[in-house]
Amino acid sequence: MDNIDRLLLSPRKAIYMKFVYENPLTTKTTEIAAHFGVDPSTVTKTLMELTSMGLLSHEPYRPTSLTEKGALYAEFLVRRHRILGLVLTHYGLTPDEACKEAARFENSVSKVVIDSMCRAMGHPMMGVCGKISHDPCCCNGQFTCHEEGTAPITTRPVAGQE
Ligand SMILES: [Zn+2]
Ligand SMILES: [Zn+2]
Repeated sequence: MDNIDRLLLSPRKAIYMKFVYENPLTTKTTEIAAHFGVDPSTVTKTLMELTSMGLLSHEPYRPTSLTEKGALYAEFLVRRHRILGLVLTHYGLTPDEACKEAARFENSVSKVVIDSMCRAMGHPMMGVCGKISHDPCCCNGQFTCHEEGTAPITTRPVAGQE
Protein backbone atom coordinates (compact mmCIF):
# COMPACT_ATOMS: atom_id res chain seq x y z
CA MET A 1 0.00 0.00 0.00
CA ASP A 2 2.97 2.28 0.61
CA ASN A 3 3.05 4.19 -2.64
CA ILE A 4 -0.67 4.13 -3.37
CA ASP A 5 -0.98 7.38 -1.42
CA ARG A 6 0.63 9.46 -4.09
CA LEU A 7 -0.18 7.33 -7.07
CA LEU A 8 -2.61 9.29 -9.17
CA LEU A 9 -3.72 7.58 -12.34
CA SER A 10 -4.96 9.38 -15.41
CA PRO A 11 -8.76 9.26 -15.75
CA ARG A 12 -8.48 6.74 -18.59
CA LYS A 13 -6.28 4.39 -16.59
CA ALA A 14 -8.55 4.74 -13.56
CA ILE A 15 -11.61 3.86 -15.65
CA TYR A 16 -9.92 0.71 -16.96
CA MET A 17 -8.84 -0.29 -13.47
CA LYS A 18 -12.40 0.08 -12.20
CA PHE A 19 -13.72 -1.87 -15.17
CA VAL A 20 -11.35 -4.81 -14.59
CA TYR A 21 -12.22 -4.71 -10.89
CA GLU A 22 -15.96 -4.71 -11.45
CA ASN A 23 -15.97 -7.13 -14.40
CA PRO A 24 -13.45 -9.83 -13.50
CA LEU A 25 -14.82 -12.17 -16.17
CA THR A 26 -14.85 -9.65 -19.02
CA THR A 27 -11.26 -8.63 -19.22
CA LYS A 28 -10.00 -9.71 -22.60
CA THR A 29 -8.53 -6.82 -24.54
CA THR A 30 -11.17 -7.20 -27.24
CA GLU A 31 -13.98 -7.18 -24.68
CA ILE A 32 -12.66 -4.08 -22.95
CA ALA A 33 -12.23 -2.36 -26.31
CA ALA A 34 -15.79 -3.24 -27.30
CA HIS A 35 -17.15 -1.97 -23.98
CA PHE A 36 -15.51 1.43 -24.32
CA GLY A 37 -15.88 1.60 -28.10
CA VAL A 38 -12.16 2.11 -28.68
CA ASP A 39 -9.50 0.40 -30.74
CA PRO A 40 -8.00 -2.73 -29.13
CA SER A 41 -4.50 -1.30 -29.66
CA THR A 42 -5.43 1.64 -27.40
CA VAL A 43 -6.58 -0.78 -24.73
CA THR A 44 -3.43 -2.88 -25.08
CA LYS A 45 -1.24 0.19 -24.64
CA THR A 46 -3.03 1.29 -21.47
CA LEU A 47 -3.06 -2.24 -20.04
CA MET A 48 0.68 -2.51 -20.68
CA GLU A 49 1.25 0.74 -18.80
CA LEU A 50 -0.81 -0.49 -15.87
CA THR A 51 1.08 -3.79 -15.98
CA SER A 52 4.41 -2.01 -15.82
CA MET A 53 3.12 -0.12 -12.77
CA GLY A 54 2.51 -3.47 -11.09
CA LEU A 55 -1.26 -3.02 -11.00
CA LEU A 56 -2.29 -5.58 -13.61
CA SER A 57 -1.12 -8.93 -14.76
CA HIS A 58 -1.54 -8.88 -18.50
CA GLU A 59 -0.41 -11.32 -21.14
CA PRO A 60 -1.42 -11.16 -24.80
CA TYR A 61 -4.62 -13.10 -25.55
CA ARG A 62 -5.19 -13.88 -21.89
CA PRO A 63 -7.76 -12.33 -19.59
CA THR A 64 -6.31 -9.46 -17.64
CA SER A 65 -6.35 -9.66 -13.88
CA LEU A 66 -5.53 -7.35 -11.03
CA THR A 67 -2.42 -7.91 -8.99
CA GLU A 68 -2.79 -7.73 -5.22
CA LYS A 69 -1.66 -4.12 -5.32
CA GLY A 70 -3.97 -3.50 -8.28
CA ALA A 71 -6.96 -4.89 -6.40
CA LEU A 72 -6.25 -2.63 -3.42
CA TYR A 73 -5.87 0.29 -5.74
CA ALA A 74 -9.10 -0.48 -7.59
CA GLU A 75 -10.93 -0.66 -4.27
CA PHE A 76 -9.50 2.72 -3.44
CA LEU A 77 -10.71 4.13 -6.78
CA VAL A 78 -14.26 2.95 -6.08
CA ARG A 79 -14.13 4.23 -2.50
CA ARG A 80 -12.74 7.56 -3.67
CA HIS A 81 -15.66 8.03 -6.06
CA ARG A 82 -18.24 7.12 -3.42
CA ILE A 83 -16.71 9.13 -0.56
CA LEU A 84 -16.53 12.24 -2.75
CA GLY A 85 -20.09 11.64 -3.92
CA LEU A 86 -21.24 11.41 -0.32
CA VAL A 87 -19.43 14.62 0.60
CA LEU A 88 -21.21 16.42 -2.24
CA THR A 89 -24.63 15.25 -1.03
CA HIS A 90 -23.82 16.94 2.29
CA TYR A 91 -23.72 20.19 0.35
CA GLY A 92 -27.10 19.81 -1.26
CA LEU A 93 -26.51 17.80 -4.41
CA THR A 94 -28.88 14.97 -5.20
CA PRO A 95 -27.28 11.50 -5.21
CA ASP A 96 -27.43 11.48 -8.99
CA GLU A 97 -25.77 14.89 -9.35
CA ALA A 98 -23.18 13.97 -6.71
CA CYS A 99 -22.25 10.80 -8.60
CA LYS A 100 -21.78 12.70 -11.86
CA GLU A 101 -19.91 15.62 -10.33
CA ALA A 102 -17.54 13.40 -8.33
CA ALA A 103 -16.60 11.60 -11.55
CA ARG A 104 -15.45 14.92 -13.00
CA PHE A 105 -12.74 15.64 -10.45
CA GLU A 106 -12.13 12.47 -8.43
CA ASN A 107 -8.97 11.59 -10.37
CA SER A 108 -7.02 14.44 -8.85
CA VAL A 109 -7.83 13.65 -5.22
CA SER A 110 -5.16 11.69 -3.35
CA LYS A 111 -5.67 8.82 -0.94
CA VAL A 112 -4.56 10.89 2.03
CA VAL A 113 -7.49 13.24 1.43
CA ILE A 114 -9.99 10.41 0.90
CA ASP A 115 -8.84 8.57 4.02
CA SER A 116 -9.23 11.76 6.06
CA MET A 117 -12.72 12.38 4.68
CA CYS A 118 -13.68 8.77 5.30
CA ARG A 119 -12.48 8.98 8.89
CA ALA A 120 -14.19 12.34 9.47
CA MET A 121 -17.48 10.87 8.25
CA GLY A 122 -17.12 7.84 10.49
CA HIS A 123 -16.44 5.35 7.68
CA PRO A 124 -19.85 5.35 6.00
CA MET A 125 -20.95 2.00 4.60
CA MET A 126 -23.15 3.25 1.77
CA GLY A 127 -22.22 5.75 -0.91
CA VAL A 128 -24.49 7.42 -3.42
CA CYS A 129 -24.07 4.63 -5.96
CA GLY A 130 -23.11 1.58 -3.95
CA LYS A 131 -21.37 0.14 -0.93
CA ILE A 132 -18.14 1.63 0.38
CA SER A 133 -15.37 -0.74 1.34
CA HIS A 134 -12.79 0.33 3.88
CA ASP A 135 -9.22 -0.74 3.54
CA PRO A 136 -7.05 -1.47 6.55
CA CYS A 137 -5.26 1.83 6.09
CA CYS A 138 -8.03 4.31 5.67
CA CYS A 139 -9.98 3.05 8.25
CA ASN A 140 -11.74 1.29 10.98
CA GLY A 141 -8.96 1.43 13.54
CA GLN A 142 -7.88 -2.14 12.77
CA PHE A 143 -4.45 -1.20 11.56
CA THR A 144 -2.22 1.78 11.75
CA CYS A 145 -0.65 2.54 8.41
CA HIS A 146 2.12 4.83 7.30
CA GLU A 147 4.27 3.70 10.21
CA GLU A 148 6.89 1.11 9.43
CA GLY A 149 7.03 -1.87 11.72
CA THR A 150 3.87 -1.07 13.59
CA ALA A 151 1.97 -4.17 14.58
CA PRO A 152 -1.70 -4.28 13.67
CA ILE A 153 -3.97 -3.11 16.44
CA THR A 154 -6.64 -5.77 16.65
CA THR A 155 -8.54 -4.53 19.67
CA ARG A 156 -9.28 -0.99 20.61
CA PRO A 157 -8.30 0.03 24.12
CA VAL A 158 -11.31 0.40 26.36
CA ALA A 159 -11.38 3.48 28.57
CA GLY A 160 -10.53 2.66 32.16
CA GLN A 161 -8.84 -0.65 31.43
CA GLU A 162 -5.38 0.62 30.73
ZN1 LIG B 1 -21.28 7.09 -8.54
ZN1 LIG C 1 -13.11 4.35 5.96
